[in-house]
Amino acid sequence: MGGTFDPIHHGHLVAASEVQHRFGLDEVVFVPTGQPWQKEDRQVTAGEERYLMTVIATASNPRFSVSRVDIDRGGLTYTVDTLRDLWRIHGPDCELYFITGADALEQILSWRNAEELFELAHFVGCTRPGHALTDVGLPEGKVTLVEIPALAISSSECRQRVAAGEPIWYLVPDGIVQYINKRHLYVED
Ligand code: ATP
Ligand code: MG
Repeated sequence: MGGTFDPIHHGHLVAASEVQHRFGLDEVVFVPTGQPWQKEDRQVTAGEERYLMTVIATASNPRFSVSRVDIDRGGLTYTVDTLRDLWRIHGPDCELYFITGADALEQILSWRNAEELFELAHFVGCTRPGHALTDVGLPEGKVTLVEIPALAISSSECRQRVAAGEPIWYLVPDGIVQYINKRHLYVED
């Protein structure tokens, strides 16, 4: 599951859990992005902080793990590189599913090496409230849409709430509230 995870929230975790269950996946690997090219217009929190928050949020689930491939590669993250790295690590015996949100899926055809992407992985698009999917001509049999129990949570809203001094308890795991607090993330200093 790729994402910026700035910060990771219960929407991400519910989506991962739901897709794991639906497809009977052995493992969901969360892959925090490097500097995401779709978000060049805003300052993204340091990869190391986003990586640690993702570890904290997923640690208790035996089927969840976190990969550093995008953060360690550095530079802009392209999904084709992520999948090539995961393929290298997990080998040809492993069937890869790339889990992403409906919004990201809509941009899928604009991604670099779109044809190769579909050879490397099956794509799972998660829908969430306010992100209705439009038919963008995705290849047959390579993409599955999964409706996630409605959790209208976004990282943007979590960041805005922290900046405004509003609580994010229960939108993100407790450890994430505490980590954000400890590291003074999302507040102007
Ligand atoms: P931002 O508000 O900064 O864009 P985000 O909440 O969308 O952050 P990302 O890290 O960009 O979080 O999310 C990774 C993927 O998870 C995205 O493709 C997104 O659509 C999906 N996602 C995020 N929140 C939810 C949610 N509440 N339910 C289902 N999918 C979600
Ligand atoms: Mg988003």
